Amino acid sequence: MTEAAPVIETDILIVGAGPVGMTLALAIRASGAPLRVRLLDARKRGSHAGDPRALALSHGTRQLLEPLNAWNAAAGTPIHDIHVSQSGGFGRTVITREEQGVPALGYVMRYGDLAAALAARIADDQVLDECSLHGIELRRDHVIATVERGTDTHRIRAGLVVHAEGTPADSADVRVADYRQHAVLAEVRPQPAHGNRAWERFTPDGPLALLPIGNDYSVVFTVPPHKADALMAMSDAAFLDALQRQFGNRLKFTATSPRARFPLALRLRRELVAEREVWIGNAAQTLHPVSGQGFNLGIRDAWELASQLVNRDADMLGSVAELDRYGAGRQLDRFGSALFTDGIVRSFSNNLLPLKLARGLGLIALDACKPARKFVAGRMIWGARNWL
Ligand SMILES: Cc1cc2nc3c(=O)[nH]c(=O)nc-3n(C[C@H](O)[C@H](O)[C@H](O)COP(=O)(O)OP(=O)(O)OC[C@H]3O[C@@H](n4cnc5c(N)ncnc54)[C@H](O)[C@@H]3O)c2cc1C
Repeated sequence: MTEAAPVIETDILIVGAGPVGMTLALAIRASGAPLRVRLLDARKRGSHAGDPRALALSHGTRQLLEPLNAWNAAAGTPIHDIHVSQSGGFGRTVITREEQGVPALGYVMRYGDLAAALAARIADDQVLDECSLHGIELRRDHVIATVERGTDTHRIRAGLVVHAEGTPADSADVRVADYRQHAVLAEVRPQPAHGNRAWERFTPDGPLALLPIGNDYSVVFTVPPHKADALMAMSDAAFLDALQRQFGNRLKFTATSPRARFPLALRLRRELVAEREVWIGNAAQTLHPVSGQGFNLGIRDAWELASQLVNRDADMLGSVAELDRYGAGRQLDRFGSALFTDGIVRSFSNNLLPLKLARGLGLIALDACKPARKFVAGRMIWGARNWL
């Protein structure tokens, strides 16, 4: 580090200008708190457009994005109902928006459209893009972050560093459970039209989700890594055949986009806060994508942190006691979401006959029991607010 490197002054430095980091920046601004916020990101600004994910955003997430003027209504396809079933076994249920009393159970939006709507609200000079964080030095009343951008080194003096840089690497600070599953993603054209219905189909390989997006379905095809290798290598026609076999014959699939894949693991950071540092979004917890909880949980992290920072002056930003209150307040939501997704993956991703029977009975019970359906739907629509 060179002492001659220019120093940028800010109150809050957000590392990672992904959807969660940008939501935090906008929520702090909307709160009216007189705090200066800078973001930095490893990627070039605008490169989120190429991300292959389509995210199911809950009704609660829409309610958080709207006041930030970051809800891109035109890019979201509403989900009217969700059909849940298991392949090769009995039992199914359908959750509908009418029964839950909401305009939509959720909305499917491409990651790129979500990120673009957020980025449009953030000034160019607030973001240092194509940067890597080299180190953080803790001083008595601030931190100095050293950042490299090409051949330049910047030093950023901040009262608080918020880590929103996405899925953490393996380290002693992170508990990891590898699902030995990969998600293969594609957009496919259904016949007949999807009618705003989402499908969650549990197979012994892992969950298969179809989310309506525009006229197509965004497919999340979860399989063991060797099967993901095979799905990625197939011709389009062979991929559509494989999808059809896994899904069954309720719909036909006639065309597909190129595919992408993501390895899946549960990653939970042991501590959410340290002196003058806090972790949110995927940097705090990375979940299995089943039932679409990850971003919906991350935006609640951002919202809660912004609400806690609103009454603090710049000197109090890094107080461990204050940050601990944030960390303690997030535990129920994050562990609830992790248990919910982990429980679904572990109990459904196998072919054991007794479990298959139990799952079938569970789906029949869910279909017959409105309060149970309301509980499951509430988790998708509101997250932990459902039972708080
Ligand atoms: C297949 C799949 C399907 C999913 N479906 C859903 C769904 O339906 N609903 C849902 O709610 N969630 C879903 N998720 C989860 C969702 O994608 C994440 O929870 C969400 O993207 C987290 O946002 P984030 O901003 O925390 O992290 P990210 O989206 O990972 O963004 C992190 C940002 O930090 C930047 N960065 C990374 N490293 C550094 C660094 N060292 N320095 C600076 N910047 C850095 C990156 O460039 C990026 O801009 C899914 C995930 C997968 C894999």
